[in-house]
Amino acid sequence: MEGWNKVGWSFESARVPMTFSAARRPGEEDVEHAAGHLTTLCGIPTREVDVYRHLFASRSAIACASCREQSVKAPTQPCVQEKLYRILDRSEGPLRDELREALRAGTKVPFWANGPAGAMLKHYIKFDRIVQGSEDVIDLEGFDGLLGVARAVGRKRRFLVLIPAEREAIVAVEEPERRFGRLRCLTRPLAQK
Ligand SMILES: [Zn+2]
Repeated sequence: MEGWNKVGWSFESARVPMTFSAARRPGEEDVEHAAGHLTTLCGIPTREVDVYRHLFASRSAIACASCREQSVKAPTQPCVQEKLYRILDRSEGPLRDELREALRAGTKVPFWANGPAGAMLKHYIKFDRIVQGSEDVIDLEGFDGLLGVARAVGRKRRFLVLIPAEREAIVAVEEPERRFGRLRCLTRPLAQK
């Protein structure tokens, strides 16, 4: 049990608006559109526009009126907690149940990245910090597909979630951040008095 529940928080209340990349027609720099899959939301074929890395802002003064209207009506997306919950839905185990419960209560997911397994394990996992579930993580060392790494941090627990492509997700627990390690070190002589 995480024992932590934000009042009124739910997957439903935490859904986030759908986002779209910004797009502009060459020569029409004063109007910005929202890029959809094959066309902008107002119907201009994507091949006729330049798609930018920044997001379409419906409140921007240069937002196309039709794209603005369509983007506001677009269905909302699940929050990060709900996305992770849905992934865990397909697996089993006591740590998974505990994490699912924590996610339902809105525990934070401050980190989630995807990449080739070798690089992800090397850069984002410290095996000596895993205090529970390390066997399953070690089993993954030979895996060479795509790997998602997520951390869900509650008050008492720091969950590590590994999401190998086309395999069940693995849940482990890491020791908490040693945030005040240095400070504690400095104050130890005083505490010994
Ligand atoms: Zn438009």
